[in-house]
Amino acid sequence: MPLHEFHGGLVLAGHKAESTGRGLQACALPALLRVSLLQHAGTPAGACVAAGDTVAAGQRIGIAQGELSADVHSPCAGRVVAVEAHALARFPGLEAGHVVIEPGAALSPQALPAMDWQASDPAALRERIRAAGVVGLGGAGFPTAGKLSVARDLLVLNGAECEPWIACDDALLREHADEVVLGGRLMARVVGAGRVLLAIEDTMPEALAAARAAAAAAGDGLVEVVAVPTIYPEGGERQLIQVLTGLEVPRGGLPRDIGVIVQNVATARAAWRAVALGEPLSARVVTVTGRGVARPGNFIVPIGTSVAHLVEQAGGYTDSAARLLLGGPMMGQALPHDDFPIGKQDNCVLVLSADECGERAPEMPCIRCGDCASACPAQLLPQQLLWHVRADNAARAQDQGLFDCIECGCCDLACPSHIPLTQAFRRAKFEIRVRAVETERALAARDRHDARKLRHERESAELAQRHEARRAGTAGADAVAAALERARVKRAPGHDTDASP
Ligand code: SF4
Ligand code: SF4
Repeated sequence: MPLHEFHGGLVLAGHKAESTGRGLQACALPALLRVSLLQHAGTPAGACVAAGDTVAAGQRIGIAQGELSADVHSPCAGRVVAVEAHALARFPGLEAGHVVIEPGAALSPQALPAMDWQASDPAALRERIRAAGVVGLGGAGFPTAGKLSVARDLLVLNGAECEPWIACDDALLREHADEVVLGGRLMARVVGAGRVLLAIEDTMPEALAAARAAAAAAGDGLVEVVAVPTIYPEGGERQLIQVLTGLEVPRGGLPRDIGVIVQNVATARAAWRAVALGEPLSARVVTVTGRGVARPGNFIVPIGTSVAHLVEQAGGYTDSAARLLLGGPMMGQALPHDDFPIGKQDNCVLVLSADECGERAPEMPCIRCGDCASACPAQLLPQQLLWHVRADNAARAQDQGLFDCIECGCCDLACPSHIPLTQAFRRAKFEIRVRAVETERALAARDRHDARKLRHERESAELAQRHEARRAGTAGADAVAAALERARVKRAPGHDTDASP
């Protein structure tokens, strides 16, 4: 099929082979799991277990709080040691509740009843995907059932794993392409899509071959495997849609505005396992790689496993380990230590060696060369955006498309003045979101205060009315008593007023 191009982007060294040689490996259970209640976009789930409870593998331990939240399940049988707040790797400075589990209870796994996906109603399939806690495993963590709630014409399965070093989707496709294809067919049924494109980069030949064989085995021709050129950040939703269809998602809009839905390949597999096997999402494939680990590989990791334990599974740190990242080198989050748990959104632990990190060159003034704009896949003007962000002009920054920035880092790499543009945009977005939440809270507090004041005023008015009514009632009763008394006195014998004329 004809392919198209997107604006900007960079060709980067892949470094995939470093981790894909060993196949998928099981990560051993650690001594303690710390399962976050915030592993998705939106509100944290509410814990439904307490310290001292025993839990089965697959048992729900967190209940979604609203549409943008997702259920959380225990990855193993064990005992809940604590439910407590811990720092979040993805949001420095913020905390969320975690369920701490000591593996070891002798309980059978809890699975949901298996469903026949071809005979089940789309609404029932969506509900199952929701109940299994499936969220976007490509990194965004958007609850999948919510994304599948709008009808679409085209489903894109995203296997274009474009960020260097990350190879978990490649490893997954090599061994489980059949389940990815089944997941794609299932999701197409849910949204009514008549076409599924499974996009895989042309530098992933093993994954492409496995996917083509699985699509052919399905026999219905619904899933078409497409080899796309390897260019960063082609795995971005908007960029991939443009490459495959030539269509652009409008600024501020969503893929659904043009009838398209994009799902990561691992998400598709998780959806299929949730439906066909009744398996809640409690483990995922994570790449552990970089010159700072002894044996890079791709591991099936129980959610809640610490980064430290996972690095041990990969042979531990090498002497040259210098920098730890959760995610890839372009969009990953630098970690200050390795005591963070893996969540559903985490696809890679990257340990860079000292020579790979290098010293960041000092920032120089902007020379208005425009290289950042040429590299920007979102077609933004990063130098102007930076001007507004540094002036703390949130309104102008948003007008200039701040929230269309996908934080890909292309502008940073292109900038000859070494200006940390992406970091500035990421921080600005974070601060705007925090301010929005604070404003929302302040407005809610003001509404509560106003409502309380109104209630007090109403209650005071009602009380005053009751007093008034009682006073009026007392006065009436007094008048009646006085009249009766006068009548009684008149009737009394010998009273002259009682004599008839
Ligand atoms: S980080 Fe944002 S502004 Fe910079 S190139 Fe990527 S999308 Fe454009
Ligand atoms: S690439 Fe750097 S120096 Fe050039 S315009 Fe952009 S911010 Fe300025």
